[in-house]
Amino acid sequence: MRTRDWDDEEEAPATRGSHQKERALKEVRAIFRQADAAYGPFSCPASGECCQLSRTGRQPWLWLPEWELLTQGRPLPPPREDGGCPYLDAAGKRCTVYADRPFGCRTFFCERIRGPARQPAETVGALLERLERVSQQREPSLRAPRPLLEWHAEALARASTKTP
Ligand code: SF4
Repeated sequence: MRTRDWDDEEEAPATRGSHQKERALKEVRAIFRQADAAYGPFSCPASGECCQLSRTGRQPWLWLPEWELLTQGRPLPPPREDGGCPYLDAAGKRCTVYADRPFGCRTFFCERIRGPARQPAETVGALLERLERVSQQREPSLRAPRPLLEWHAEALARASTKTP
């Protein structure tokens, strides 16, 4: 018999939505722990340079539950003038959401990575598939991850329309 992952059909819609979100966040945290374990043997200089998103032209792409984890219980930061990730600290060196940082921030390393010769590409691929499944259960219409700055700009715009 098939086991249901999202067994809350009897709940009121609002409660069901909140439970689904909590389950999704729990699964995302589990995926992140496995990504961290896979990259345990690796290290980098932690310069924060890869978080200077405009300068590098690269940024993490997030599925919905990753963005929900990042924003849950914390205020939306303003954009940075230097185009860096809005979740950098004032000095532009440290991540202020390190425990909840997106999958891409956990698995992307520049050429200064130190560790085994080969990165755990198969594990990363399998975990990405799991992330996609979790997101699809939360929001089936979202067919792909979105850049962090896009999520952020949209959330800021939504927040500004609520301000009296
Ligand atoms: S979330 Fe943290 S690690 Fe990821 S780009 Fe932003 S500051 Fe860097």
